[in-house]
Amino acid sequence: MRAVQLTDPGVIEVREVPVPTIGAQDLLIRVGAAGICHSDLTLIDFPYKMREEPLTMGHEIAGTIEAIGDDVVGHQVGDRGVVYLCWSCGVCRECASGNENVCEAAGRTAMPPCPGLGPDGGMADFVRVPARSFVPIGDLDFCLAAPMADCALSSYHAIRGAQEQLRPGSTAVVIGVGGLGHVAIQLLRATTAARVIAVDIGPEQLALAERCGAEIMLESGPDTAAEILRLTGERGADAVFDFVGVDATATLAVQSVAPNGAYRMVGLGGGAPELTAGPAGGPGWPWGASVRKSYGGTKSDLIDSVALARSGHLDVEYQRFDLADAATAFDQLRAGVIRGRAVLVP
Ligand code: NAD
Ligand code: ZN
Repeated sequence: MRAVQLTDPGVIEVREVPVPTIGAQDLLIRVGAAGICHSDLTLIDFPYKMREEPLTMGHEIAGTIEAIGDDVVGHQVGDRGVVYLCWSCGVCRECASGNENVCEAAGRTAMPPCPGLGPDGGMADFVRVPARSFVPIGDLDFCLAAPMADCALSSYHAIRGAQEQLRPGSTAVVIGVGGLGHVAIQLLRATTAARVIAVDIGPEQLALAERCGAEIMLESGPDTAAEILRLTGERGADAVFDFVGVDATATLAVQSVAPNGAYRMVGLGGGAPELTAGPAGGPGWPWGASVRKSYGGTKSDLIDSVALARSGHLDVEYQRFDLADAATAFDQLRAGVIRGRAVLVP
């Protein structure tokens, strides 16, 4: 079969590899679509190898069950689904509480095994997955379903954790209207009555934000925090979702979140927000605000996301590429010209 593999730091190749074998608890999935996440670019740019042998990339996977391990119950060959990306231990206290995204077996600052980031992923004709990770999608289009695995999952998790702030009349800020951000705006519209302010650096991204239901679009710049304060009667936004995570956006979040507000860091740009203790006065961190570094989501968050897509509350703007053209898709994502999500189809 064909697989998009990271063979050396910075080197991506479409290679012929054997179809994976499966264990007793696994499924073999015939891939229908695999999304490309900005995190994949980060992985390609790592200066060292994640593992010695070439790694098949892809953690946003939708497809059809091709074969079933001997001990698997409850699934049939031909079932269509999306793959939950936290391949957690399933037995620790966090997993038992449904918080598989912060599985104890992963260690304190690491993340649970994720396809395409350790185990082989789904940018291929076939992928092996633990049966526990399979979430049915009914007749949902694969190109729409694959981005549920991360675009929707990680956005939904961050938003669900800020429900207390997102009361009717509240304001939510979405920074970065790419794959995750454009889905986050729709999730805010579908699950809260908050007014959504979208922030990005490009006019086309802001036009996408408007189509997704944002009410106010702001081009990111030195005055953005002041503009958000003005739009919220100098109080600030009840929740700020940062899907970029660089110093500039972290500073924007610190300077525009409301007292008792929620700042959710999802983007992994290495930004360091300045949170200082002590009475502030001026543009610093307000009383009562909280920050969460948000990773992925729970399996139940994925099931909710799929339900929202199936009931028509969630759409994904995607650009389709043949699997063989993966390098072109990566280049376009890096150049910032993808609107919504780039999706590879085998
Ligand atoms: P993307 O490339 O599709 O979108 C990023 C968007 O941010 C683009 O629209 C870009 O124009 C915009 N942007 C860039 N710099 C900006 C700035 N200074 N101000 C405002 N907007 C800016 O990326 P994506 O796939 O949506 O991923 C977003 C981030 O989230 C990445 O850092 C990715 O690694 C991370 N991520 C985190 C998790 C998690 O669980 N924490 C999950 C998936 C992705
Ligand atoms: Zn991702």
